[in-house]
Amino acid sequence: VDNTTQGIYQLYTAAQRLYQHILLNTTSGEQALSYLHDTRQLDDEIIKKFGIGFVPEDNALLGYAKDQNLAHELMHASELFITNDQGEMRDRFAGRIVWPIKSDRGQVVGFSGRALDNNNKIKYMNSPESPFFTKSKLLYNFDLAKNVIRQTNTVMIFEGFMDVISASMAAEDNAVATMGTALTNEHVQHLVRIANRVLLVYDGDEAGQRAAQRSITLIQENTKDIEIGVVHLPDKLDPDEVRLQQGLSTLKQALHQNIQTPVEFLISVSRVGKNLSNQAQYLAFLQEVMQLLKQATPVEQDIQLTRIANEFGTAKSALQAQLEQTNKS
Ligand code: ATP
Ligand code: MN
Ligand code: MN
Ligand code: MN
Repeated sequence: VDNTTQGIYQLYTAAQRLYQHILLNTTSGEQALSYLHDTRQLDDEIIKKFGIGFVPEDNALLGYAKDQNLAHELMHASELFITNDQGEMRDRFAGRIVWPIKSDRGQVVGFSGRALDNNNKIKYMNSPESPFFTKSKLLYNFDLAKNVIRQTNTVMIFEGFMDVISASMAAEDNAVATMGTALTNEHVQHLVRIANRVLLVYDGDEAGQRAAQRSITLIQENTKDIEIGVVHLPDKLDPDEVRLQQGLSTLKQALHQNIQTPVEFLISVSRVGKNLSNQAQYLAFLQEVMQLLKQATPVEQDIQLTRIANEFGTAKSALQAQLEQTNKS
């Protein structure tokens, strides 16, 4: 590691400390701290555990960098500042609550910032891609989670870092999140080395379901060595909303009990938007089900066909016959 890299790592660490200090101990952090306490129901202990901070509008980090006589190139390469049309630098995350993003070893390598009010057009903003901050490789919280992932042989993958933090509050510490992007091969290769079970805990809305579908495909294309579970969350909520609206114990329960197999999940997705009391739509649904069941084990085929037979009053023998037909075609 050369001197510039070393200096940038030191700047990231200093920035995280400064932002947290501003949040917890200064008047310019008061509004953000009330938001975290009251609206997001986070206490100081959890704020410290995850290193959360606030970046005021007064260019506090720029002031620090000037005091330290940091080289312009180093400041530029850190991506912690932006330069305006007049050529003046200012703190990139000004006005945002920031979560430090860390490498596998716990070195801060960037930040993700959330606007304080929901009306702001850009709610979340990450550090830009750089040699230090590579979204396709980074998993939020991997540094804290890796030992528990090894112990439990299981990793929970979430959409957002507030979801990871909610899981941690429910004493589920094997939790990671992608950085606002889809799961990649590199993420999967990394995880399969230390766990043989993945739980996908995506938002209960349609975007979350689509993301879960894509992740299932990606994982199955990458490895046969991992068992996948999909956690179904109630009422189209995300995990953090389950904690806030229904309580920590409901979240914890869902993470352990509302687990679907990939086939079960994909069948439930294929129901969405279909009126299954309409015969044509029911038959179309069955065709999709049979395609999904082709790859499933005989026992899972039996379980799913029994469910459909019972729910729709179709003879199970007819469903089995159709599955056999599908297998041949
Ligand atoms: P919050 O609970 O803070 O209101 P959210 O749950 O509505 O946020 P989602 O829209 O569900 O957020 O996004 C899930 C996660 O994806 C976020 O927590 C964030 O980590 C990431 N994300 C979303 N939008 C962006 C973006 N524009 N840039 C970077 N990351 C993003
Ligand atoms: Mn979402
Ligand atoms: Mn969400
Ligand atoms: Mn949320």
